[in-house]
Amino acid sequence: MSHLVIDNVSKSFGELPVLRGCSLSVEKGSVLTLLGPSGCGKTTLLRTIAGFITPDAGRIVVQGNDISDMPPNRREVGYVFQNYALFPHLTIAANVAYGLKVRRTSRAEVARRVEDALRLVDLSTFADRYPAQLSGGQQQRVAIARSLVLEPSVLLLDEPFNALDARLRLTMQIELRKLIQRVGITSIFVTHDQMEAMTLSDTVAVMHKGVVEQFGSPLDIYDRPRTAYVANFIGRAN
Ligand code: ADP
Repeated sequence: MSHLVIDNVSKSFGELPVLRGCSLSVEKGSVLTLLGPSGCGKTTLLRTIAGFITPDAGRIVVQGNDISDMPPNRREVGYVFQNYALFPHLTIAANVAYGLKVRRTSRAEVARRVEDALRLVDLSTFADRYPAQLSGGQQQRVAIARSLVLEPSVLLLDEPFNALDARLRLTMQIELRKLIQRVGITSIFVTHDQMEAMTLSDTVAVMHKGVVEQFGSPLDIYDRPRTAYVANFIGRAN
């Protein structure tokens, strides 16, 4: 059984159909990338999985449970925002602890879990610093720690490298891939950059105008593009 199943999800904003019957699945511990040009519906699909958007039709299933009607905070789905959304006036430890405090966790438990999360992203020695004192890549890891501390079963990342210097991107991509493998968490990324998708993913969904044009391994998509759109998008004539 797949860890997460997106089953025939559709969504319109007013008259505009943004997702048109999207179906995908992600295996436990693997990385799926939603790849496509700006406006094709990637972020809307990610936000639907997180529960910030209610689809008009279709289901989101995690470990066999239909979570379509659950509010975001009960879904065990972590969401890492594009700009990381860290609180500048809080220390790194306090930023990571934030979500736990909302959940009324005991102080000792908060301390233990924050320590574990910071260790996972290799930032233990940064606990007492402030976001502005960290590099872009380190801030991203804090944002990931803030999600992981809630022990989600799925991690969603919206364009995780957008805020980073182009020179840093490849290093960060490799580091993030290693981090996800180490944690072993099922993850879904959004990107418009095909090289990024190919570097990071076990599977890729190429999207176009709210439709999943092709879903497969990076190699599959490169070697056997199934539609003219996919062939064109990855730079190969059919
Ligand atoms: P992508 O992430 O692939 O760039 P989005 O999912 O952000 O695409 O957007 C897909 C389309 O839906 C775009 O045309 C966008 O303008 C529209 N859209 C996204 N969110 C809303 C919203 N809340 N209200 C109206 N239109 C929206």
